[in-house]
Parts: sequence; C-alpha cells; structure tokens
Amino acid sequence: MVPESFDGLEELAGVGHKTASVVMVQAFGVPAFPVDTHIHRLATRWGLSSGKNVVQTEKDLKRLFPEEEWARRHLQIIFFGREHCPARHHDMESCPICSFAASSARKRAERQR
Ligand code: SF4
Repeated sequence: MVPESFDGLEELAGVGHKTASVVMVQAFGVPAFPVDTHIHRLATRWGLSSGKNVVQTEKDLKRLFPEEEWARRHLQIIFFGREHCPARHHDMESCPICSFAASSARKRAERQR
C-alpha cells in the first residue's frame, strides 16, 4: 500500500521529496509543488527564484502562486520546458519569455556556458 503522507513516502527506498510531492499532488490531491531540474532551471531563468537550490526554489514558487494552482503550474512549467527550453546553447534575447523575464546577469551567465 502506498503511504499517504510526505514522511511515509520519503521513508521508502529511492523516494525523495520531489517524488513524494508528485505522488501527493497527483495521486492524493494534496497541495504540493514538486521541483525537478526543468522547474528549478526555468524558475531561476525567469527570475522567480534565486536558484540557490531546489529547496529554495520550491519555497519561492509556493510563495508566488496560490496553493490551488500549484499542481497545474508544476505541470505547465515542466511541459513548456520540455517543449521549448533547451538546457543550454540558445539565444535568450530572442525568446518572448526570457528576453524580458531573465536578468541581464543571467543572460550573460548563460551565454558563457
Ligand atoms: S529563452 Fe525561452 S526557450 Fe530558453 S529557457 Fe527562456 S523561455 Fe525557455
């Protein structure tokens, strides 16, 4: 039987906080904002988080969006990122989102990668 709590899930072998969050929100409808590498990268590119680490990104996104939107926003960012946002080597200035959302410092840093 699958545990129905963050603690119960995270005690299972191979289950971390992100996976537990996916199960809680998708299977049990409990508000959670799972942060994977796509979401972490995009949240920092878009200036939605300082991008220090995934823990901070999760806190920032939860603060930014109303709880009832977390499940939808999580999926929207993942699907958008998979479809449109390569990890590196693309021009952020020509993109309608990053050209206005990313900081100059971030654009400079991405150009040097
Ligand atoms: S520049 Fe556009 S495609 Fe690239 S990460 Fe930003 S939103 Fe995604």
